[in-house]
Amino acid sequence: STAGMWDVGCAVALPGTARRWIIHDRRTMSSPAQGGDTRSCLNGPQLQPRELFVAGPGGDGRAQKEEVDDNTEEIMEGALIARDRVGVQDFVLLDSHTSEAAFLSNLRKRYQENLIYTYIGTLLVSVNPYKELDIYTVTQMQLYRGVNFFELPPHLYAIADNAYRVMCSEYNNHFILISGESGAGKTEASKKILQYYAVTCPTTEQLQIVRDRLLLSNPVLEARNSPGGKGTRDGVGGLTARGFLQAFGNAKTLRNDNSSRFGKYMDIQFDFKGAPVGGHILSYLIEKSRVVHQNHGERNFHIFYQLLEGGEKDLLCWLGLERNPQKYTYLIQGRCAKVFSINDKNDWKIVRKAFSIIDFSEKDIEQLFGIVASVLHLGNIQFEEDSNGHAIIRDGTQIKWISKLLGSHLSILQEALTHRKIEARSEEVLSPLNVDLAFYARDALAKAIYGRTFSWLVNKINGSLANKDSTQKTVIGLLDIYGFEVLDTNSFEQFCINYCNEKLQQLLIEMTLKAEQEEYELEGIEWEPIPYFNNKIICDLVEQKHKGIISILVLGSVYQNYAKCCEGGSGTQGSSNPRLLFQDEECLRPGEATDLSFLEKLEEKVGDHAHFVTYAFSSVSYPSPPSSHPQHCRKLADQKTRKSIDWVDFRLLHYAGEVTYCAVGFLEKNNDLLYRNLKEVLCNSKNGIIRDCFLLSELDNRRRPETVATQFKNSLTSLIEILMSKEPSYIRCIKPNENKEPGKFDDFLIRHQVKYLGLMEHLRVRRAGFAYRRKYELFLQRYKCLCPATWPNWNGTAAEGVERLIKHIGYKPEEYKLGRTKIFIRFPKTLFATEDAFEY
Ligand code: ATP
Ligand code: MG
Repeated sequence: STAGMWDVGCAVALPGTARRWIIHDRRTMSSPAQGGDTRSCLNGPQLQPRELFVAGPGGDGRAQKEEVDDNTEEIMEGALIARDRVGVQDFVLLDSHTSEAAFLSNLRKRYQENLIYTYIGTLLVSVNPYKELDIYTVTQMQLYRGVNFFELPPHLYAIADNAYRVMCSEYNNHFILISGESGAGKTEASKKILQYYAVTCPTTEQLQIVRDRLLLSNPVLEARNSPGGKGTRDGVGGLTARGFLQAFGNAKTLRNDNSSRFGKYMDIQFDFKGAPVGGHILSYLIEKSRVVHQNHGERNFHIFYQLLEGGEKDLLCWLGLERNPQKYTYLIQGRCAKVFSINDKNDWKIVRKAFSIIDFSEKDIEQLFGIVASVLHLGNIQFEEDSNGHAIIRDGTQIKWISKLLGSHLSILQEALTHRKIEARSEEVLSPLNVDLAFYARDALAKAIYGRTFSWLVNKINGSLANKDSTQKTVIGLLDIYGFEVLDTNSFEQFCINYCNEKLQQLLIEMTLKAEQEEYELEGIEWEPIPYFNNKIICDLVEQKHKGIISILVLGSVYQNYAKCCEGGSGTQGSSNPRLLFQDEECLRPGEATDLSFLEKLEEKVGDHAHFVTYAFSSVSYPSPPSSHPQHCRKLADQKTRKSIDWVDFRLLHYAGEVTYCAVGFLEKNNDLLYRNLKEVLCNSKNGIIRDCFLLSELDNRRRPETVATQFKNSLTSLIEILMSKEPSYIRCIKPNENKEPGKFDDFLIRHQVKYLGLMEHLRVRRAGFAYRRKYELFLQRYKCLCPATWPNWNGTAAEGVERLIKHIGYKPEEYKLGRTKIFIRFPKTLFATEDAFEY
């Protein structure tokens, strides 16, 4: 049987015994579940059947010698059959050449046996099971604790444990990058890793608080219950047992009922004993547009629904809210306020509990929900046109609630929502807004409030996670960022999300495929270069100074903003002249920047780029959204009559596939303009959180703030710097089907992901390459005691010392290579054997 706790390529039940067995080839130190080595147990020259080692699941996971009896053949035969059925646990062990078909077949076999994890060397591939598996229990966690990487079946815990152990022994910093498209399982993986550390790392009663806070930061930012609502059975800290998902940063989308709508990088800080002593979260670009608009089939952020469903009667009454989400314009645009898989009422309880553990006072909570409720009230404000064409608010109910909850003066708030302040010759004049602009201002206010409150929340959590004494030694960073996204209509948000994914892919390439191959070359190791697609070209297209899409977008946004000032709008930038900021750009003049001119500028600057295509659509001839009518696309350059165009698109050929972006709204979203008088209202609010978020000093600052894309680009650049300074581990998540269905392995969809994630290239490099490398000095230092010639002192060079040492240990020529400064060891098992000899 291969069921139960072991993920096994070669585990079989011995007839007549209740125990399960795992064949273990001690000589080659192969992993118990490495099917390839089981075959070598039978046929390989290295091993005699009588020398088989077997390990039972009752032990600590390490192999033990057992008497081999007459059942051996049967065991081995069973092992091969089992292997045939469940595939190999490391793609490096695939017998056949490294074809995509073999890769997929192995992945499929394993998925069908609920074996969702497979290695490519030390990289973990994970396929979302869309059902709860019994592999995340405390027993499982303990099993993986302190065990060599390849000795147990592939698991997130092995990756987590390996990073932890190396961190403890080498005193260095690590990160675990979890990538994959929306719905592939990144957030679930990061939660499970966090739980693993919470359970397995040493802790004291005092540290227990840190541990609980680390775990509980999740539900506040992402709060939702675990899949199916049942949770894992581990009982970790009571609350984690129910699984943490995701309130303020996650939402139901078409692709994922709990989609992360912000990026999160979390450092877990450890002291010199390896105990978690603190944490820090960096958040990236929350998708604010969702607050005011959701596509069909999607929801706003979970917290709104949780509050209405679960909020205590008194609280709702105090906030002026009704329980029914249908009453709120901001909650019903996607027409799916109620979702079968989501229990908002229960999730509310978890969020509530989390607040009390993460140091939120009742006052904080009151103010926070005052803000959440204000957003809902804002959405219900309706503007009407008076006889002069100016916007007015006839029904003052909502605005009264907002004024109460935000602690703002009613008439000033009302005026700010229907007017804007214009500075004319050092005088301030109030100019009435028309209805369209009033709706625009209202939505901008809702987005600004929500966005900044989210950042406030992250800061607050960071305060509670801060390691107050300086005992911190090292960190493990967990990166869980929104996955690559292709929607029917893709906008500025998808552009940012996908750009972020390009950057992470680039990091992975730099740190693995490229670095690895360059190192062989540098070290003089014979090496047949393995080609791979380097997406740097796409990153450059997006982010290059002056020439990249972001630069062009920023320029357009600045002009649009400036244009608004010229026609009398009071932009956030005060009176600074964008021409002075972009003197090298001559093309756009104030007032000209529109989404179309942005697109024209793109065409001019990057039109020839191999990964870029511009399209313009005439609303007269082709009124449908462009993605459904690509055949009607025409090059913008061919377009003569500019007037008929009102749908403008450009297409990027991302590493993960083609995405058509609708340029409409790009400039505006990038500008993220909040009229100055609305800002003034917020700066003078009596709600402490709002006041913290909108500082009065901001009003004095006349400099143009950085646009959204620039801020995002800069924050990604520093994220990459943070990551580059650490030791990486990678988890590549795969989404098995589009229907969130358990057990369904969609070949086409998975093949596409395998391709763009570069898994085949990774495998080729891994197979041809070396699993471990050590500087001669370090290697000699550690293992010299194994050889009389090098122990205790070796007088020659380190390289010669290592040569003597490995000759003595008996490494076979195919097991290693000697480079200029390092020894390269092909298989992990070689090193494990040396480690074991060293221990004995
Ligand atoms: P996004 O980029 O949209 O945030 P994601 O990669 O973070 O997507 P998750 O939210 O982690 O995706 O996973 C989506 C859903 O898939 C989960 O809500 C859960 O139902 C299911 N799922 C993911 N991983 C697992 C797992 N290991 N076991 C059981 N179910 C899982
Ligand atoms: Mg997520």
